[in-house]
Amino acid sequence: MFWVMSKDKAAKFYPLKSKVKRAVVFLPCAGCKKLCSFCDQRIITNRTFPELGTIEQDLKEQLFGILKWLERKIEKITSKFDCEIQNSLAVEIAFFGGTFTSLDIEYRYKLLSLARDLGSEFKRLIPEKFSSIVKWRGIRFSTKPGTVNRLEFEDWKKFGVFAVELGVQTTEDEVLVLHGRDYTLENVIKDSSALREAGFRVGWQFLVGLPGQKRGFWRKAFSKFIPDEVRIYPLVVIMGTLLDRWIENGELEKKGIKLWNFEDILEEATDLYEECLKRKVEVLKVGLHYEKSLAERAREWYNWGDLVRLNYLKRRFERNEELTPQEKKILSTAYGGAFLKSGSGLKDWLLRRSSK
Ligand code: SF4
Repeated sequence: MFWVMSKDKAAKFYPLKSKVKRAVVFLPCAGCKKLCSFCDQRIITNRTFPELGTIEQDLKEQLFGILKWLERKIEKITSKFDCEIQNSLAVEIAFFGGTFTSLDIEYRYKLLSLARDLGSEFKRLIPEKFSSIVKWRGIRFSTKPGTVNRLEFEDWKKFGVFAVELGVQTTEDEVLVLHGRDYTLENVIKDSSALREAGFRVGWQFLVGLPGQKRGFWRKAFSKFIPDEVRIYPLVVIMGTLLDRWIENGELEKKGIKLWNFEDILEEATDLYEECLKRKVEVLKVGLHYEKSLAERAREWYNWGDLVRLNYLKRRFERNEELTPQEKKILSTAYGGAFLKSGSGLKDWLLRRSSK
């Protein structure tokens, strides 16, 4: 989040939503050798390796769009108030959506070198008036644990990579095997430690609610390593995936594996969210980004980000912890708002609260 402050005595703060903007390239399953149970097979079967020219054009448009967005935003505020921007906006290029470090090295290095060059061009394009606000931060990518090659670290740094996100998903080795993930918790810890030692920011991505996972599954990993940032994805089962078929055919029950219910997923994701806040681990995201086409293919779709944050506020409220006016507003809005349409656990709670 960045802020603007009035030059006058009546200092006014206007939180703008973003402190980081990312130009993102999705490479769906591009580097994946095999399928994970929860991954959308249609993406795998239709996968294509985007041309560098297409990626370049797309990234340029996104980066240029960020500058345009900033210009509009600042103009809107400064035309209304006599104020100046106090905080800064970091800009990154991110490669998401597949096992980046298993991509063919030639293609991968071309992607990184393209991102580095576009980053330099972007820096040159930043208008003088925004030079103290916008900062080029560098490149991040997500990848699968166990595929990180330490011999490439120096190259990555030269390209401007500053953060690597590992798709940890879960921590019990047998659950990883069940869902087609070919690494162990030991791989996760080793890769994370090596990345940190080399000076990279380390991110972990967790799936919450995978069949076979136990409550508190992430604690074991946190006892060995604390990442810098985390993404929390409560499980959304996409129709047509292997996991969807297992559920449909009752195959998990036959193996004695229980499915998580809504309340347990919500409580577990909120536990993880709280732990991250307590340990000052940056939470980059909770829940999948809503897309109509994705939500339509889900067995059940919830706006998990809203639900988890709301559940967290509910817990704090019940513990009599002080809430900010903004947080109180969120809770009161939730009584009659869209959250009521979401999962039953919260719904019950909200109904109970509203009848007091
Ligand atoms: S590693 Fe990620 S992108 Fe690749 S198949 Fe598994 S879930 Fe899909």
